[in-house]
Amino acid sequence: MLRVAIPNKGRLADQTLTLFEKAGLKAESRVDRALVANLGEEFQAIFVRAQDIPEFVADGAADLGVTGADLVAESGQGVTELLDLEFGRCRLAVAVREESPVQDARELAAQTRIATSFPRVTERFFDELQVPVHVASVSGAAEIAPHLGVADVIVDLVSTGSTLKVNGLREIGTIMDSTARLVANAPAVADDEKGERITELVTALESVIRARSKRYLMANVPKDRLDEVKAIIPGLSGPTIIEIRNGGKWVAAHAVVDSRKIYQTIIRLKDIGAEGILVTPIERLMP
Ligand code: AMP
Repeated sequence: MLRVAIPNKGRLADQTLTLFEKAGLKAESRVDRALVANLGEEFQAIFVRAQDIPEFVADGAADLGVTGADLVAESGQGVTELLDLEFGRCRLAVAVREESPVQDARELAAQTRIATSFPRVTERFFDELQVPVHVASVSGAAEIAPHLGVADVIVDLVSTGSTLKVNGLREIGTIMDSTARLVANAPAVADDEKGERITELVTALESVIRARSKRYLMANVPKDRLDEVKAIIPGLSGPTIIEIRNGGKWVAAHAVVDSRKIYQTIIRLKDIGAEGILVTPIERLMP
């Protein structure tokens, strides 16, 4: 079995399990809160801290892992990134106290003290800016450091920005944007047998991710407006047009559409006289 390291708690845990389940790999363990579970027939899940996953994957303790791009960068471990899972979106940001006059990370004075649980990435960022800073590593709750007087600046993950706000902090720069990634052990990818199963897993996960932003639209449209229908719902390779038994002037048009454009698409279809419009989610999409 190939071993997949999955975050045991935190923002990525539930969404990772949901994604695998949608791809047909439901995590099943004999006991509640188990550290190991079967993930379909060919994979085994191990539940570990998201921070530890790059290391477990790099040294081969796990063949694959799901963790944040921020944690992969911070670990400095050599893992092969296979897929952006497009959830857990956040940014690693530099923030100062609200009342600070500093507007941009480049303006920070030499020897500014920075508290962060991302010391490596932070050092690299300021090295590149050629601003010599003093980085103090904390394991969490960096937001409190400026108020305790132990740091002037923090580097932390920001999602909505509300944590910074309630702690009286303001962003002055972004070090990196991050989402959850599927990463792999390089020798496992290169191995014939493991590599093939890894490719199959990537294909399955990718099809679920792709489907998330799409809907399947069906509508009855007047036969004499098919050119316009094609322009409104081009689909993946043109809409599917189906005869309706005793349909008279009507045919059915089916197509995959971008979920963000559904609202406009329906209005445009109605404008050319479409009826019986039906929109459904798609479980998987493999073009
Ligand atoms: P927010 O208030 O939404 O900006 O969230 C900020 C807090 O949530 C900080 O304590 C971050 O460390 C944490 N956080 C936000 N997004 C993520 C993420 N994708 N993964 C892990 N921690 C996160």
